[in-house]
Amino acid sequence: MNRFQPIKHSEIECRFCDFLTPLSKHAPVDTPWLLGASYAAFVSIGALVPGWSLIVPKNHKINLTEDYTRTDFWNFVESAASILKDQYGDFSIFEHGAFDFDSQTSCGTGHAHLHMVPLSFSLFEEAQAFDKTLRWEKCLVSQIAEKSRKSEYLYVADHFQGEHTQGNICLLTKETSQFFRKVIATKLGIPDSYDYKKSKMLDITLQSFETLSSNGWNSLKNTRSA
Ligand SMILES: [Zn+2]
Ligand SMILES: [Zn+2]
Repeated sequence: MNRFQPIKHSEIECRFCDFLTPLSKHAPVDTPWLLGASYAAFVSIGALVPGWSLIVPKNHKINLTEDYTRTDFWNFVESAASILKDQYGDFSIFEHGAFDFDSQTSCGTGHAHLHMVPLSFSLFEEAQAFDKTLRWEKCLVSQIAEKSRKSEYLYVADHFQGEHTQGNICLLTKETSQFFRKVIATKLGIPDSYDYKKSKMLDITLQSFETLSSNGWNSLKNTRSA
């Protein structure tokens, strides 16, 4: 698909498609801090901790199940990961995997995205403690398509190892809104701040954008001149 194609009707309300439209001007936090041929990295609006980032495919799609088996996806994620780790240390990854465009599970945006969040605790352990009714199964990131079997899912991994990342998947029987945001906000002692639509955390978001984007552009310059 050509990126200069007009945005289709079903995508008109999509904020990521809007942010990725060439030539449109956006606030810094709505601008990618790293941009590749098919993917972009943004700071998450409502970042509860510094560095919280999202990897977003340029083409509109509902989840990342197909991307997890693509080499160009992992090349991009690894570039973003090395910058993130340099600035903020180890991070967990997670996805709220939706299958319907208007599902609550998709964080209120129908455009696929992978969260990368620098945390000082195990997100998987906190997720288990937060809702003991959820059943988790070990899952390599490359097996998500096969294991999710077109059901909505939550996926989390505390140790990022690129395409070899080993995490845990939970198949959902009902839509679950902003699940991992609730887990993280609760662990941080600010449970009411989970909703990014109400708590935009603009100070953390803007500071993270400045740190990551200056490193993002430097890394692109170095790659080009190498
Ligand atoms: Zn979109
Ligand atoms: Zn999300």
